[in-house]
Amino acid sequence: MGSQSRRVVVVGAGLAGLRVAEAVRAAGHTGELMVVGDEPHLPYNRPPLSKEALAAGVTFETLQFRRRTSVDDVGWRLGVAAAEASLESREVVLADGTVLSYDGLAVATGVRPRRLTLTAPAGGRHVIRTLEDAAALRSELGPGARVVLIGAGFIGCEVAATARGLGCEVDVVAPEAVPMQRPLGLTVGAALQRRHEGHGVRFHLGRLPAVLHPAAADPQRVGEVELDDGTRLPCDVVVEALGCAANTEWLAATGLDLADGVRTDGRLRALTDSGLVRPEVVAAGDVARFPNALFDDVARRVEHWSIPTDTGKRAGASLVAGLSGVDLDGETTDAAFAPMPSFWSDQYGQRLQSFGSLGIADADVDAVRLLDGDLDGDFVAGYHRGGQLVGVVGIGLMPRLLALRGELLATLTVSRPG
Ligand SMILES: Cc1cc2nc3c(=O)[nH]c(=O)nc-3n(C[C@H](O)[C@H](O)[C@H](O)COP(=O)(O)OP(=O)(O)OC[C@H]3O[C@@H](n4cnc5c(N)ncnc54)[C@H](O)[C@@H]3O)c2cc1C
Repeated sequence: MGSQSRRVVVVGAGLAGLRVAEAVRAAGHTGELMVVGDEPHLPYNRPPLSKEALAAGVTFETLQFRRRTSVDDVGWRLGVAAAEASLESREVVLADGTVLSYDGLAVATGVRPRRLTLTAPAGGRHVIRTLEDAAALRSELGPGARVVLIGAGFIGCEVAATARGLGCEVDVVAPEAVPMQRPLGLTVGAALQRRHEGHGVRFHLGRLPAVLHPAAADPQRVGEVELDDGTRLPCDVVVEALGCAANTEWLAATGLDLADGVRTDGRLRALTDSGLVRPEVVAAGDVARFPNALFDDVARRVEHWSIPTDTGKRAGASLVAGLSGVDLDGETTDAAFAPMPSFWSDQYGQRLQSFGSLGIADADVDAVRLLDGDLDGDFVAGYHRGGQLVGVVGIGLMPRLLALRGELLATLTVSRPG
């Protein structure tokens, strides 16, 4: 049977789902192509949800992705979740009971925000992942609103900066010693904390929320966050920015390795618990845990905007090759999968830009070195593993950052040939 008579089902209608669909068409699949998404929207862009869209107003029209004509004939099944899947019968069951059979399946279901497990009133508590989340949060932000952010990662810090820009009072609570500590380390995190404090953000670090008290005027809403040292922070709004969990529950019965997202090989083909490749199932985007030959053979999930495009292209090509009976494992000419990770974060009108993998740097203080500038102004810092540069981050100094990106590509690719 040729690829034209086969059905490809993509689950997840975000950036990764869109990119997989485009790649499936680009690789020559002319058969049926369906994309299932639990949100009611066609794919849209998430980064503005904590930045310019949160500041200026959230609309689908300004956030939607341009869709190539190659995906004009995609069958979009929106507003309905995939509830379960069976690799044996090659079927996905939707929450409304519809059963979709597939020949090729792409998993692009992304991640969702983790929530506080404390018993607490629901009113006034927010997360930020979807357009509706951002619109709901936006409606509560304004001059004088007291916002407590739980979590000091990138998204938490972006919301803190946007909320200050809207005139809110902002407290940030997090268990780490400095904001953005996990990706950036202590020195750079401390420098960014100083910038936030310069804009009036108050940090409560090394602390966890212990109790979320109801508001006196409305017991359905949270009115005060009590920390584990007894500090009490009166609030109108709580934003839970505690990191994310992969959306893989619907794959629970498949036997795939779902330890943290869907584990794949370098071709983005899903692996079972026992390490077997399933060539008819691929994963892409935030939900995929894949090895990057630039660094090593450890499979990792990467929540950067550049990754759905890199992984989506590769996953779509792998899926169509599998459907067409191409033995990818016999291929010797295909280069190893080695995308250069890249992310940015906008805070107070300044852009933090990174290339490479900061998170794999060694833990000792020498692993993070100031390469240029001044940490309280424009700067570039380098992150090292075993003495080798594995990532860079900076504010301003874009020419230097781009030069270092080139250096990373050259040195990391040389050390790990495809
Ligand atoms: C507020 C915010 C700010 C960000 N800022 C930046 C930034 O500045 N820089 C950067 O590099 N990255 C940023 N990111 C990360 C970036 O947006 C993500 O890496 C990217 O959106 C991942 O795309 P994805 O398609 O893999 O996942 P998603 O965009 O999450 O898409 C997955 C889709 O699948 C749906 N889904 C889940 N389960 C099911 C199911 N069972 N059935 C059907 N559909 C399902 C989800 O609802 C969602 O629509 C930000 C993310 C957020 C949320």
